[in-house]
Amino acid sequence: MEHYDFVVLGGGVSGLGFAKRVSEHGKKVLILEKEDVVGGLSRSLFYKGFYLDFCAHRFHTNNKELLHEVMTLPGLDMKKHIKKSRIYMFGKWLKYPFEIQQLLVAMPIHQSFVSGMSFGWNLLTKKFRKTSNLQSYKEWFIHLYGKQLYNVMCYPYTSKIWHYDPGEISADWADQRFQGENLKKLFKRVIKKILTLDFSSYDLKDDSLAPDGGPFYYPLRGIQEMCDALARAATTTGTQIVTSATITGVHTGEKTVTYSVNGETKTVTYGGLISTIPMHQYYALQERKDKDVEKALHDIKYMDIIFVFVFLKVPQVSNDHWLYFPDKDIIFNRAVEFSNWSPEMCPPGKTSICFDITTFKENKEWNMSEEELKKKVIDDAVRVGYIKREDVEDALVTKIEYAYPFYDLDYKRKLDVIMHHLEHNDVALLGRTGMFKYNNSDNSIEMGFALGDEFLKKDGKHSVYEYKVKAPVSY
Ligand SMILES: Cc1cc2nc3c(=O)[nH]c(=O)nc-3n(C[C@H](O)[C@H](O)[C@H](O)COP(=O)(O)OP(=O)(O)OC[C@H]3O[C@@H](n4cnc5c(N)ncnc54)[C@H](O)[C@@H]3O)c2cc1C
Repeated sequence: MEHYDFVVLGGGVSGLGFAKRVSEHGKKVLILEKEDVVGGLSRSLFYKGFYLDFCAHRFHTNNKELLHEVMTLPGLDMKKHIKKSRIYMFGKWLKYPFEIQQLLVAMPIHQSFVSGMSFGWNLLTKKFRKTSNLQSYKEWFIHLYGKQLYNVMCYPYTSKIWHYDPGEISADWADQRFQGENLKKLFKRVIKKILTLDFSSYDLKDDSLAPDGGPFYYPLRGIQEMCDALARAATTTGTQIVTSATITGVHTGEKTVTYSVNGETKTVTYGGLISTIPMHQYYALQERKDKDVEKALHDIKYMDIIFVFVFLKVPQVSNDHWLYFPDKDIIFNRAVEFSNWSPEMCPPGKTSICFDITTFKENKEWNMSEEELKKKVIDDAVRVGYIKREDVEDALVTKIEYAYPFYDLDYKRKLDVIMHHLEHNDVALLGRTGMFKYNNSDNSIEMGFALGDEFLKKDGKHSVYEYKVKAPVSY
């Protein structure tokens, strides 16, 4: 049996980051990945001359060391972009993230008056209200923006994405998503703009104001190039990556992993085991069974996603990076046009758009046929005036499981039960999927590095479950 210092289950960016860090310190690492490429949720597809991401992945971090380490990966060329996005509401295209002063102008006048008053009242009374008992995303949002703006800005889009009422979603999701947002500064500027009757947009370069804004980095032919560069860096220092691997068993007592590839079955021993695969799958593979953990796993769920890629015989449809669609009668949530991310993503004179539909397997969208999905997406995009039917050449549907950890109000208790059981005897869980953590790729890479550092320390914790990212950005 071959021995590895570390076996990593899953070759997404967290696992690659971990492998890079420890193999640079001379550790022998094996990564087992089920797909035929590395990258996981950050991988790209190639279809008839088009490079496609899952929605397009921007790389965005305030952690200077991390940024430097990623940007200087050999062979990786990432260009700087300033995020440009709009949202389709009230039959108009508004800048996104929402700018309250602009939204008030777009709304029907009576709604705008009531929302403005509610926002002002909320602001005046905010400091008298307790923040300690903000359990749900709904409470979190109303605390900051007031009930009327909640009805317009939060409820429609959030309930469409998650298929749950924001009152049933944990406030931790908001904290994770809007970490680091400078709300005081934002409020001051909004009030100043409203009082001076200035309803213009913020400068796109001003990332201090809006969450989700600001500069980001993107490679020439899809985010896969970043994943490949991480993988190259890890393999240069000795990491072995086995793709198309089927993991068939893990024995944490004997410290072994069994897998098969190309019809051959192998068992290897490890010093440390890092799982970045869905928790339910990891639990099923390992030998330590427990009724409470099974109950917690039964009650915790990931959200799935469908991507409908539409290929058009025109060079450009809009100049946005993202477009958002909160209306429930439009099947998709967002649209990403790849030629705006990099002209090299599409053949000359053509463009492609990714439309995403978040769902759970029990919902009707997951069970619609590919033809039905393509038809509904194209019909809706034509109806809102985004694309022209005669420009459409082709479409492609991809369904991805375990795309989003779903934070219900009780998720943390359940997660504690699962994590405390599974992380033992030099086993650590890692990453967005492995740790059920609402990470972006920068967070996952940073946690991979941090877990590597933990294992390299003599008396390290060998866990990043409670790790807080160093310089959070607002997404
Ligand atoms: C629609 C969408 C848009 C996003 N946009 C952005 C963005 O713009 N910017 C950003 O920074 N982040 C974005 N993210 C988040 C980003 O994709 C993730 O944070 C990151 O890719 C997670 O990496 P990971 O290694 O933690 O997990 P994963 O990518 O999930 O890695 C897990 C790996 O395990 C493999 N695996 C699963 N099961 C098995 C098994 N049984 N055996 C072997 N291998 C297995 C998977 O194939 C995968 O490679 C987005 C995510 C989604 C879903």
